[in-house]
Amino acid sequence: MKMILLGPPGCGKGTHGKRISSRYDIPIISTGDIIRVAVSSGSALGEQVKGYMASGNLVPDDIVIALVKDRLTQDDCKNGFIFDGFPRTVPQAEAIDAMGICVDMVLSIELPDQVIVNRVTSRRVCPSCSAGYDVNDNPSRDGVTCDMCGATLIQREDDKAEIVENRLKVYHEKTAPLVAYYEEQGLLHPHRSETGYRLYSIDDICNLNVIRALRELDMPLSEIRAYLDRRSPGELVELLERRVVRWRGES
Ligand code: AMP
Repeated sequence: MKMILLGPPGCGKGTHGKRISSRYDIPIISTGDIIRVAVSSGSALGEQVKGYMASGNLVPDDIVIALVKDRLTQDDCKNGFIFDGFPRTVPQAEAIDAMGICVDMVLSIELPDQVIVNRVTSRRVCPSCSAGYDVNDNPSRDGVTCDMCGATLIQREDDKAEIVENRLKVYHEKTAPLVAYYEEQGLLHPHRSETGYRLYSIDDICNLNVIRALRELDMPLSEIRAYLDRRSPGELVELLERRVVRWRGES
């Protein structure tokens, strides 16, 4: 399965990505993580991009696209992958199409800006194993070190309030248009929660994948609806997992 996670910084893409990654056993390709590794290694590429990241601006498309192309050559991508934070611009989305990648699903998580600012500024991360915490809602046990590996937690420089505002501005200008881009391709189905935000849960993802699988078998939508109503979430996951196995060409 090839999936894209869309949404503003701090909306939960990484958290959802990890769950989906372990459920389907496919890697998360986070361009933010790739760029952070380059910056902290002090490589020529890192030197070239660190200013963009520090100011909350986007790294130029050609650089990011080249990094993704390179990552996709690795063996663990052969059964699929989850893009987290890529694409962030229409040219990046077009580059995915030009690479001949057939995206199966786009997940878009939307939250109001003020919620984002609060969430991002209270976020803390482990510089060693990348585990994420929130000083208010999900602190580590001692509030200072990582529960997983014991490293001292940090606040990312670009999670500081003054930079977050620019990241949100950039998100609205450059990345939000991708919602319409993927809606037009039929890959993103708007789903409004009670609070009015478009949000897909892991179970929605399963349902959408099952719908896609059944549509490919030419089942009419009315029958698909009845089919989904008759099945428990567990059965749907099982059905989907069988479908994923088929995608992987293992049976
Ligand atoms: P993230 O961890 O996804 O929030 O990304 C952190 C920073 O890395 C962003 O603010 C950008 O400076 C850069 N970055 C990550 N992904 C991309 C991308 N797809 N295109 C351009 N810049 C990116």
